[in-house]
Amino acid sequence: MKVILAEHSGFCFGVEKAINTVFSKMNEENIDKRLYTLGPLIHNTHVVNELEKKGIKAVDDLDDISNGIIIIRSHGVPEEVYEKAKLKGLEIVDTTCPYVKRIQNIVKDYYLIGYTIIIVGSPDHPEVIGINGWCNNEAIIINSIDQTKNISFIDKICLVSQTTMPIELFCEISKDLENKTNDIKKFDTICTATKRRQDSTRNLAKEVDAMVVIGDNHSSNTKKLLEICHSINPDAAFLIQSKDELPIDQLKKYNVIGVTAGASAPSWIIKDIVEILKEI
Ligand code: SF4
Repeated sequence: MKVILAEHSGFCFGVEKAINTVFSKMNEENIDKRLYTLGPLIHNTHVVNELEKKGIKAVDDLDDISNGIIIIRSHGVPEEVYEKAKLKGLEIVDTTCPYVKRIQNIVKDYYLIGYTIIIVGSPDHPEVIGINGWCNNEAIIINSIDQTKNISFIDKICLVSQTTMPIELFCEISKDLENKTNDIKKFDTICTATKRRQDSTRNLAKEVDAMVVIGDNHSSNTKKLLEICHSINPDAAFLIQSKDELPIDQLKKYNVIGVTAGASAPSWIIKDIVEILKEI
């Protein structure tokens, strides 16, 4: 069987940096404190379970711990979380992706000089919740063009985007808002890692007989990759988290298989799966 791996797949820069930081912290000599992550470090049950075995526990709230080291994941967190962690005497290991940190800094700076912050993003997404926490949780959060219709005149707007939003939506919303203000500062804060992964998945899916998408079914970027593959070949797209879930019997009938992976799929899992497929 011929197996082709998508040109861009797996860990993005931000997630890779987060994982490396956690592993190097874990391997520090003389580390005598317990490590915790605020929420799962990445959307990958396999990796989270591995981390748990190594003593890194995911907690939902700082109230769940009284001492130790708290790891802030790549999505980032509201400003108040840093303050609370310091008050509790916790050591902070901050793995907020630099692209997300940039958004947090923009909204804080513009909020402080009187701009209304508008975030194009999903209100429930941890990254957006985190960004909103840098402007006193006062941002207007919108994720469709219809929602801009409900916005009346605003004196000064600072517009940013969740890193994974489609650029088309950001442009459309930004154009609409231009007519509702005298002063708009627009920051295209979309990260190209997501778009590149989606484009290379789309291109590969058109070339092969079937696609294997590696990632967690809770990860929105992985689900998006599966959706793209389904739109090209509805009967030949398979989502798996690890090699144990490979639908070998179903895959046997294809000659060329494409493999892609979401942003939280580690390279070692991708490599294992590609090797097994090649053996078929
Ligand atoms: S998708 Fe982009 S912004 Fe998000 S963690 Fe990865 S590199 Fe950072």
